[in-house]
Amino acid sequence: MTLSVAIIGSGPAGFYTADAIVKKFADVQVDVIDRLPTPFGLLRAGVAPDHQGSKKIGRVFERTAQRDNVHFIGNVEIGRDVSLAELREIYDAVVIATGAPKDRGLTVEGADKKNVIGSSRFVGWYNSHPDFASLDVDVDVESVVIIGVGNVALDCARILALTPEELAASDIAPHAEARINAAHIKDIHVVGRRGPVEATFTHKEVSELGELARTVPLVARHKIPDNADACPPEERKGKEANLALLRGYADNTRDMKPIGLSLHFYVQPVEILGGERVEAVRFERTRVEPDGRCVGIGEFVEIPAGLVITCIGYQSIPLEGAPYDERRGLFRNDDGRIEPGLYCTGWAMRGPTGTIATSAPDAEAVARHIAEDVPNPGKPGAKALIGLLEERDAKLVSYEDWQKIDAAERAAARERPSPRRKFVRIGDMLNVVSKS
Ligand code: NAP
Repeated sequence: MTLSVAIIGSGPAGFYTADAIVKKFADVQVDVIDRLPTPFGLLRAGVAPDHQGSKKIGRVFERTAQRDNVHFIGNVEIGRDVSLAELREIYDAVVIATGAPKDRGLTVEGADKKNVIGSSRFVGWYNSHPDFASLDVDVDVESVVIIGVGNVALDCARILALTPEELAASDIAPHAEARINAAHIKDIHVVGRRGPVEATFTHKEVSELGELARTVPLVARHKIPDNADACPPEERKGKEANLALLRGYADNTRDMKPIGLSLHFYVQPVEILGGERVEAVRFERTRVEPDGRCVGIGEFVEIPAGLVITCIGYQSIPLEGAPYDERRGLFRNDDGRIEPGLYCTGWAMRGPTGTIATSAPDAEAVARHIAEDVPNPGKPGAKALIGLLEERDAKLVSYEDWQKIDAAERAAARERPSPRRKFVRIGDMLNVVSKS
């Protein structure tokens, strides 16, 4: 009998899992379901628009999506069009691969002021995610504060720092490009509550800061430790390389380029200041304890800010019928197994850490669990789901439909060095499908 598997979410975690499952089982049908009409999740709407090289892994996912026993079913939302309980009735196994799309909130006073924005919304806005196309973010400010020193923080800082020429080669959302090009930003402050060794940004992202046409990276030399001995030996080489880059940036001066991108360390946000709208952020200086925790030392500094972007991590969105760990912001699971027949993978399983490829081993684990848990497959899978969705008048988008959307986006960028001009509205995507 054919094993039927539904994967909820068509991002990297979903497609790695589809690939692991079709390789493990000889007789299997995998349906990859997404609430958007477009596949590839974070690869499309998370990876920075100027990082086209990181999107190359998409070719592997495209090959998986085009296998006879893998179907993409787009524009279907679990909880709206079909419930998780219904999916579990229809499929032998259901895998949650919905990532961690929600911002971890900053819980300081004033965090609800206008123009204080979480990175999931800001990144979604510049990456044409339909949920954030109409976000009203004002980037025409003199000073921006970015809270957090991970790779998302550096992505947000860099996108604001790029010139019109640099942006033209990206696939940034047209509405974001227009606003960034018209803005008069002078200073971008990226602020970490711990030090350069504890920072989670990686070498490539730190080195890119030194290659920006109109922006100079700045850092105070006395904030850079002499060595990375404080971190585990396996991380030391990468951290030492980061410190070397930062030492180079410490020689820079503010007058070298029109925009200064200052990296601040050992300060934690305590209050967002201003009236209805943000005007500054108040920080407390910190020290890092031997166990890695940071503690405030009672000295305070203020940094002016017309825009604040919090890049402090993400959490998964709960799904009715799946046990959820509120504290950790992910689904309760044991190595990807929620219970026999229900699994999770990628960020929904272990939280928002690692690179895209980190989800590959998670996928292998889920395929192994399914092999152990489902000795007698035979549930109807796609046929029953599609019947149910058609009864409910859902407008399904197949992989062939997505290819038409893809072709239209590529054609729209023909006049530019950019690879594509993404649609930002679901209605426009569905029009392309219905017209052809
Ligand atoms: P992250 O690496 O976990 O960074 C989160 C940052 O927020 C850390 O600096 C953290 O500081 C800080 N933070 C958390 N809570 C805070 C608070 N209450 N106040 C102040 N600071 C706070 O997460 P991310 O940047 O969102 O990235 C998520 C994952 O995606 C990472 O694995 C990242 O490498 C990956 N990613 C990769 C790329 C790329 O490869 N180019 C691009 C984007 C994202 P502490 O360390 O002190 O907690």
